[in-house]
Amino acid sequence: MRVTHVVDLSHPVGPQTQVYPGDPVPSLTPVATLADDGYNLAHVSMGTQSGTHADAPFHFFDAGARIDELALDLFVGPAVVIDVSGRRDRSSIDWADISAQATGVGPGKVVLLRTGWARHYGKPRYFDHPYLSGEAAARLVAAGVRTIGIDAPNPDETPREGTAGGDWPVHRTVLGAGGVLIENLRGLEEIDFPDPLFSAVPVRLAGADGAPVRAMAMRVRP
Ligand SMILES: [Zn+2]
Repeated sequence: MRVTHVVDLSHPVGPQTQVYPGDPVPSLTPVATLADDGYNLAHVSMGTQSGTHADAPFHFFDAGARIDELALDLFVGPAVVIDVSGRRDRSSIDWADISAQATGVGPGKVVLLRTGWARHYGKPRYFDHPYLSGEAAARLVAAGVRTIGIDAPNPDETPREGTAGGDWPVHRTVLGAGGVLIENLRGLEEIDFPDPLFSAVPVRLAGADGAPVRAMAMRVRP
């Protein structure tokens, strides 16, 4: 088996990272330098869900699994990329919009929603992304899917500034089934080969609700 191509699906993490409203802004501060100490080392400060990251069930459920307790097979697997690009701001992606492309979904498959919204990353419009309907999420979970990724900040509609927002049906459905969500992906349009192998393994932060991932899609040849 050979990996012949790897697509980087993660945004860089640093002060420029566009964070969800209210989340801490990441920073990296040198605590040792080559000149003074003989090596470089930095202090990292960031939220558990800054940049490209995974949500654990604990994010929405007190009794839900924490990120360090989850089996790694949730984060690695063959991906089904569903193209929902070209949609209007804040439009709902319903089962009828994706069912024709979702024929290959099932247990062990990773569903990647390609909205194209990563091109708005860094701008306010990034939060006006299309979102998956609760009904579509329920259909995917019923088919056995436990891992859903999106190239947007949120698979649910992000509340408009100053509003309480909705009831987070995608988060509740997927995390409630013991699944995980991968948010803030980039580069899904660069997956131009069949049968990509997806990997987005989280840092094993003890007891955390989520953790940063280095997400990638691999072309694998036998
Ligand atoms: Zn999240």
